[in-house]
Amino acid sequence: YNVLLIGSGGREHSIAWKLAQSERLGKLYTAPGNPGTAQYGTNVSIDPLKFEEVESFVTDNKIELVVVGPEAPLVAGIADYLSDKNIPVFGPKASAALLEGSKEFAKDFMMKYEIPTADYAVFGSEEFDDALKFIQLKDSYPIVLKADGLAGGKGVFICDNEEEAQKRLNKLKHDKSLSEAADRLVVEEFMEGEEASVFVISDGHTSHVIHNAQDHKRIGEGDTGLNTGGMGAYCPAPVLTDEILEEVREKIINPTIAGMQLEESAYSGILYLGLMITDDGPKVVEYNCRFGDPECQVILPPLENDLLDLFLATTQQRLDEKSIHINNDHYCCVVLSSEGYPVEYEKGKEITGIDEVDEGIFVFHAGTTQKDGKLLSNGGRVLNVVGSGNTLQQAIDKTYKNIDHVQFENRYYRKDIGHKGLRRP
Ligand code: ATP
Repeated sequence: YNVLLIGSGGREHSIAWKLAQSERLGKLYTAPGNPGTAQYGTNVSIDPLKFEEVESFVTDNKIELVVVGPEAPLVAGIADYLSDKNIPVFGPKASAALLEGSKEFAKDFMMKYEIPTADYAVFGSEEFDDALKFIQLKDSYPIVLKADGLAGGKGVFICDNEEEAQKRLNKLKHDKSLSEAADRLVVEEFMEGEEASVFVISDGHTSHVIHNAQDHKRIGEGDTGLNTGGMGAYCPAPVLTDEILEEVREKIINPTIAGMQLEESAYSGILYLGLMITDDGPKVVEYNCRFGDPECQVILPPLENDLLDLFLATTQQRLDEKSIHINNDHYCCVVLSSEGYPVEYEKGKEITGIDEVDEGIFVFHAGTTQKDGKLLSNGGRVLNVVGSGNTLQQAIDKTYKNIDHVQFENRYYRKDIGHKGLRRP
């Protein structure tokens, strides 16, 4: 099978690495890819949001499966466009990707199908005064304000008191950078608990849990400072006991897959559940319509299945013939970023030492570029170092030990990835 993989992050490098292990893989192309994905095939400079260009490439190169990594092309309808032309796509259609693309849709859907989540109310842009009144009536804080649409992690605000909520509301009203995303506003109850993610693969009918993980979104140690795309992750998540996972399956996964069928938007692809494990059980914080980045980099290495085989079984609606096999090891991923990220940072620093890491350690590329025979940093999140072990502590130790080999001038990374997991027995 010739495959076109869409995306350019650490997630896509890990997907390319895993696909390359399949005997069924013919040629692999990645659009636009990075120097990591180039190790397994050819990078092609196509803009994934220009569907006609993607289609011509697919036709000219006899591509038999398109795998979509990031959310933006899915929410924009790449799966609909290509499927209409009989090109198999791994990833949900736009009406199903709305679970991530619109928080209002996701909340209304959960309400309708009685899927546990935070209480909420939704307001349109003309109703911001009503939102203000609603907030004034609240007597418990914090409260969460969310822009409805995709905002790359910048559309969610946790407000500790009424004054802060009012200020934020006013800002949202006038914030041009959020434009359409904040056209509608979700006001949500704050959920206390520990967060964890569960990754599900579904062909619209059958669904299997692939694995679970926890990530670290904040830039600073102790989960402080600005939000980022993700500074590290580890798996499995100790907070997710077998009992809780059973509850997730019964109260969240099954009704989500069945509900989307009833909505005539059967969900096919990866469904990422962002969960809060509260005293009242697991509740949904968010749905995402793709693998997480950097969570993907820790959940694919322990996966023993042939990934291409799983993707094909999904697009051919044969997932009922498959079961998921995961090894028992723990994995840790630390993101090496450019100092100053997520605000302002320098690029173009030479990277050395990737070849010096121990056997069994993965270095997945994210923001890197190859120039004049040198590997240079080319983004905020530059590389992902992934190590494994029989225990979480071992996985963390191995990962950090190997980070010393991989150097570039303005390298920054968090030194406490996995700390939440270590606190549990
Ligand atoms: P964006 O739409 O801007 O890309 P996102 O999809 O990442 O953002 P969410 O996942 O809904 O947004 O929220 C981001 C983070 O805010 C969550 O990971 C969680 O830590 C926190 N959060 C969101 N909603 C709640 C809530 N109701 N209670 C507690 N924490 C919350």
